[in-house]
Amino acid sequence: MDKISIFKSNSDKFYIFLKKHKTIVEANLKKNFISIKSEEEPFLTLDKKNINNNELEQIETFIWMIKYGFNKVRGGKYMNNNLSLKEFEEIRILIKSNLKLINTYVINTDWESDLNKCIETEKKRHINTTCFMCCKKGHFAIDCKEDDSINIINVKKKHKIHKIHKIHK
Ligand SMILES: [Zn+2]
Repeated sequence: MDKISIFKSNSDKFYIFLKKHKTIVEANLKKNFISIKSEEEPFLTLDKKNINNNELEQIETFIWMIKYGFNKVRGGKYMNNNLSLKEFEEIRILIKSNLKLINTYVINTDWESDLNKCIETEKKRHINTTCFMCCKKGHFAIDCKEDDSINIINVKKKHKIHKIHKIHK
């Protein structure tokens, strides 16, 4: 049962997805100017009865992330080019709870240090950004820890929408 497809891009990044989504993934990669270099074989080829398709796709993604690095692989619900800090922490928890299964395909005892490196890279990217939820510097809205009720007030106060007038020549 080969339900999973894997694309390797020209920049040696791997994209893991369910075979039925192939056309969509191909279109999305093209839209983002990513060209496909080759197609790879998945580790999980067995039809595991106690695992559904989404889990299968996610576990496959984790295997490749552990093998090739957390910023070298995208798949399942982690398709964004830049994963958020929350997503990286979620990945850590999910890998730990599925480590026994993952270890039957790949063993890399150092995976957490790569994950931590990716988190540090992402934090550096945050330094100069302003969160549009709380308007504080240093993180993106997706990683905002401020209370929701405060957010709305702050956004209204600080981020008044200015109308953009069309420039006529
Ligand atoms: Zn914030």
